[in-house]
Amino acid sequence: MPQVRISPPTDAIVTALATAWEVVDFGIVLLDAGLTVQAVNRAFTRMANLPPGLLESRPRFRDLVDHAVTNDLYDVPPNALPVYLRALDKEIRLGSAAPRRIKLKDGRRMVFRCAVAPHDWRILTYVDISRELRLASAEAAERAGVDARFNSETMESQATYLAALAEAAAESAERAEISRILLEKEIAERRQIEIKLRILATTDGLTGAFNRSESIAAAHRAFQDARQSRRDLTLVMVDVDHFKAINDCHGHAGGDHALRHLVDVLRAGLRDQDFVGRLGGEEFLIALPGVPPETAGSIAERLRRRVAESPLTFGDRSIALTVSMGAASLSSGDASAEAVILRADGALYRAKAAGRNRLELALHAEAA
Ligand code: GH3
Ligand code: MG
Ligand code: MG
Repeated sequence: MPQVRISPPTDAIVTALATAWEVVDFGIVLLDAGLTVQAVNRAFTRMANLPPGLLESRPRFRDLVDHAVTNDLYDVPPNALPVYLRALDKEIRLGSAAPRRIKLKDGRRMVFRCAVAPHDWRILTYVDISRELRLASAEAAERAGVDARFNSETMESQATYLAALAEAAAESAERAEISRILLEKEIAERRQIEIKLRILATTDGLTGAFNRSESIAAAHRAFQDARQSRRDLTLVMVDVDHFKAINDCHGHAGGDHALRHLVDVLRAGLRDQDFVGRLGGEEFLIALPGVPPETAGSIAERLRRRVAESPLTFGDRSIALTVSMGAASLSSGDASAEAVILRADGALYRAKAAGRNRLELALHAEAA
């Protein structure tokens, strides 16, 4: 490193240096090897707010520090101050050239440097960088301000956007929920309507029994079920005895009343899996799934008896209501439900012929 040697210094140079020493705007402290203050310039005196006469007492660097501490110049937390001062002291002893920042309470920021001079002296310099920092931070603040504004605007617009999204989501969720409820209601209503339509389409309006087409369809289903599950099935044909006479005696309304009563009585004697259907006029079909030929007779007979024994009145007059029945059970030779119905019908014909209010059996296909 090239060195400027002023040797021997001329008077002019010494005078110029002395002037420079006092006019520079950074503080300079000269310490000897024992760290006694040999000289300070005017800038340092101002910076450290040194009281007049302090230098006459030939203070050590330590005394300058004590002055700074007692005048509360350092912006260092009190509990951290001893560590801070020890580190500073060590740096100066070692002659470390690494610059360090010094924060003062009044807001000034100093860059402190320590250089080793000949005879182990120390040259301490204190450069006030507050102005530069203020400028730099103003610039940074300006940039940051733009950024902050940009960010805050961005965030604000994002927040607004997100809020709008959330609102829209909530709204559409609400709408979806309402639609779902309405749809469910509509589905439920449609189901009800379908059920009603189906009931209308399959039910006899007078008696509530299956109508003719549904009776035949149900007989087919019962036939298929019995075939597939190898279970028994008994079908019973029922015809009201002398119904014409009931109509004649009690009027058409009396006849209708008798038909409704008949279905109620039959139903009361049937299980859930059984059904009764009206094939037309005063003719009915009863299906008894699972009922074998062995018990078909007794079950049908019980039904017949219930009809004959259940009292029936229309107005103040009683109606004598009896039915004739023909029962047939599913046999291996039966190709379809119609075959079974046909045999049951044959048995019914025989019951009529045999005097009415009675049951005839055509349980097996061979017997038909
Ligand atoms: P049998 O003992 O031989 O069966 O004699 P029946 O009088 O019952 O026989 P028939 O078939 O001759 O008479 C059936 C009558 O049922 C004829 C018809 O007027 C009447 N009828 C058919 N449908 C209805 C109905 O819905 N209501 C009423 N009240 N009568 C009906
Ligand atoms: Mg009849
Ligand atoms: Mg008839």
